Parts: sequence; structure tokens; C-alpha cells
Amino acid sequence: MPVVIVGAGLLGLTSAFFLKRHGLDVVVIERQAEVGLETSFANGGMLHASQANPWNEPGVFLTALRMLGREDAALLVRLRSVPSLLRWGAAFVRESNPARYCRNFEKNARLARYSLAQMVTLRQAIGTDYDFMQRGTIKLYRTEAEVIAAAALCTQLLEWGINYQVLTPAAAVAIEPALGPIESRLAGGLFFPDDEAGDAYRFCRLLAAHLRALGVVFHFNTNVLGLTGDHHHVRAVRTTLDEHTAEAILLAAGSYTPLLTKSLGLRIAVAPVKGYSLTVPIKGWSGAPQVPVIDDHLHAAVCPLGDRLRIAGTAEFAGYDHALTPGRIDTLFRLVTELYPRFAPYLDRAEAAPWTGLRPMSSDGVGIMGRTRIAGLYLNTGHGPLGWTMAAGAGRLVADEIAGVSPELALAPYHVTRGT
Ligand SMILES: Cc1cc2nc3c(=O)[nH]c(=O)nc-3n(C[C@H](O)[C@H](O)[C@H](O)COP(=O)(O)OP(=O)(O)OC[C@H]3O[C@@H](n4cnc5c(N)ncnc54)[C@H](O)[C@@H]3O)c2cc1C
Repeated sequence: MPVVIVGAGLLGLTSAFFLKRHGLDVVVIERQAEVGLETSFANGGMLHASQANPWNEPGVFLTALRMLGREDAALLVRLRSVPSLLRWGAAFVRESNPARYCRNFEKNARLARYSLAQMVTLRQAIGTDYDFMQRGTIKLYRTEAEVIAAAALCTQLLEWGINYQVLTPAAAVAIEPALGPIESRLAGGLFFPDDEAGDAYRFCRLLAAHLRALGVVFHFNTNVLGLTGDHHHVRAVRTTLDEHTAEAILLAAGSYTPLLTKSLGLRIAVAPVKGYSLTVPIKGWSGAPQVPVIDDHLHAAVCPLGDRLRIAGTAEFAGYDHALTPGRIDTLFRLVTELYPRFAPYLDRAEAAPWTGLRPMSSDGVGIMGRTRIAGLYLNTGHGPLGWTMAAGAGRLVADEIAGVSPELALAPYHVTRGT
């Protein structure tokens, strides 16, 4: 009997890859017509172990309250989503206590570093034709106090094997000359040399082609309705078309994973958090940026992906809602020209591709992986704003556990039963 994976996004596909390497039969069930069409479609493009800090940092409750209902807020909580968020939100706030936050930060940093190492194995199999780039990430700050605070936070990263350098504005421009016109507005920045970038959707397509060649079976346009089993054991996946009996079932259905476990009495603290991106062609701009840049002040990240720029940002608690709010897209257009004023004459709005995706966000900011208290049922979800960064490592660890191979990183701190 095969291992059945629900979901052909980044996490489902990397899990399939490592399961297949263990010699297991793998079936992937996906409701879309092909791989990577939901949250893994047009994300920020960055594999940034450097950004492993969970969003619920100490003080997040007051920040969220100040932003409640404000249309222009970087973190927008829509009032209508509040009732469905009460339980998850209480845990989100509880996990912002300094000790818990530090513990969760470390879990993410260790997984992220492991994940970038696993990307090497994936690239050996599928190549680099997904706009892969390994030029690090620059993070920019507008005040001296912000640079000092960020550098202090990063001393922890060194301990966990993630390197960084503090940059003066001139040093930031030396690494990324396209920042030249805004140098006088910068107080400094941080450079994380080991971060990578690439187009997640192109990666998904390459990986799926490789998996098919290895004999992984895909069922597309197939909606999973539920799982057959009880509170102790699962046996099969029920779809719109038929039922798939499985040796093990791995749910990698992104933000929708909790909906599939509810009837089995298994609660998973994952909420959908909407984000926006805008992909624009570079169109003959000879000075186009070469290095991904995160601007803390503008709450945006701009990542070069081949002959395109991807601008990503904002977080919206709005339930399972993919609607594109025009004002948010306008903000992304404004942000890219504020960061790169020389791009303004080349920016062609008609050719820009706006997009929204739902980050599967766990309440403690750490992905939920591995076995559950229900025999035969495994999870790989909840990686929130870090799913591209974590995909390879999370896929490897979950596959190891299913195959009965001792994982290189202890999985217990990432299990759903970790007690958050
Ligand atoms: C704006 C934005 C920017 C981001 N930027 C970054 C970044 O720069 N770096 C980073 O590391 N991460 C980033 N992320 C996060 C990252 O994209 C996600 O964490 C990751 O894509 C989640 O992958 P997934 O496989 O868990 O979910 P998905 O890609 O959503 O895959 C889940 C799949 O399950 C399928 N599915 C769901 N329910 C069912 C069902 N009932 N039956 C059958 N199929 C089902 C869905 O169709 C989907 O294909 C960003 C996210 C957003 C929104």
C-alpha cells in the first residue's frame, strides 16, 4: 500500500521526493489541475533562514490591537475574521511571551538551516532552472536604533549557524548598487550571505516532473472530502471520485489541513493569513537589482527572479478569502518604486501579475510536522511565511519518520502534540 499525500504544494512535493528516496510507493492527491497553484504559486521567492523569527514577537498583541480594522496596516485583522480566530489568536498571543518566542525562534532557525542543506540534494536531482540564486539577502533599516536592535537579535542566529554582517548604507549599496538613489535615507542594514532565492512554482513543476519519472502517481482535479477511520487510526482518503487506501496518510494541504482533521477530533492550530505579491517584468532596466532586499520600513520584500521582480508583503487575517484588494496592490507598486526609484520609467502596470495566497500559519509560528496521536496520520503544514525556506528540510524529516528512519533533527518539538 502506498503513502498517500494530500496536497501538491511545496511541502507535499518535497515530502514525496524524500519518501520515494526511501523506496516507498507514493500517491499525491491534489484538487487543482496541477502542482503549486495555491500558496506555493507566487510567494516572495526567498529561502531566508535569516528570517526565522516568528511573527508573534513580544508585544504583538498591542501591535495587532493598534492595527485592528485599519485598511492600510501591514498586519490587517479584518473584524469579521475575529470570531473564528479567538482560540488560535489566544495561543498566538500566549506564544509571544519572551521565553516561548525565543524557543520557537530557535526551532525555526535550526529547521531553516537544515532545510537549506537539503536543498542541495534536491538541486542535484532537478537542477537549478527555477531562477535559483544564491546571493544572500539584505535587510534595510531607516533608523540607527533599528539597526542596533536587529543586530542584537541576530547574535542568536550566529549560535544556530546562520551568518550575518552589519552594513553601513554605503556597504549595502556596494552589495546592491540599485539601492544607490536611496542611500541617504538608510541608517544601515544586515546582510545574510547564505540565503537563497528562486521561483517556488517553477521549482514545484520541475520537482513534479522528476517525481513522475520516478513513478510517483498524481491525481489532479481531485478534492479530498475526508479521511476514513476513527479517533485512533486512519485507513483511507475519501475523494470526490473514489477512496484511496493507504499505509500512511500525509496531510500537506496548507491552510486547509485543519478542515480535514476536524471530524477525527484532531485540532490543528493553523489559520490562513492572506499575503499579496506582484510580479513585474524588468523590461530593459540595465541597473536592475541582483540581490533580494527586505525593507523593514516599507514592510516589503523585493526579489529578482530571472527577468522579473517579485514584490511581496502585507498580512491580512481575513479567513479563507483570496480576494485581491486593489489598494493593497497599489501599495506594492508604490513600494517597489520607493525602494528602486530608477525602476519607475520601466514599470509596466499592464504586464504586472498581482496575486494573493494564504499562508498556513501555526499559532506559535513553527511548522507542524510528523506523526499525530492517530495511527497512520502524519502532517506537514503550518510553515506560515517560511514554507519555501522550510520545504526541503520539513519534507526530509517527515519522510524519514514515516519510513522509520531516525531523523537528523529531532522531530518531537515540531509534532502537533508539542503542547502549544
Ligand atoms: C505573499 C506571500 C509571500 C511569501 N513569501 C515567502 C518567502 O519569501 N519565503 C518563504 O519561505 N515562504 C514564503 N511564503 C510562504 C510559503 O509560500 C508557504 O508557506 C508555502 O507555499 C506553503 O506550502 P504548502 O505546500 O504548505 O501549501 P500550498 O502551496 O497551499 O499547498 C497545499 C495544496 O493542498 C491542496 N489541497 C488543499 N485542500 C485540499 C483538498 N481537500 N483536496 C485536495 N487538495 C487539497 C491545495 O490545492 C494546494 O495545492 C509566502 C507566502 C505568501 C502568501
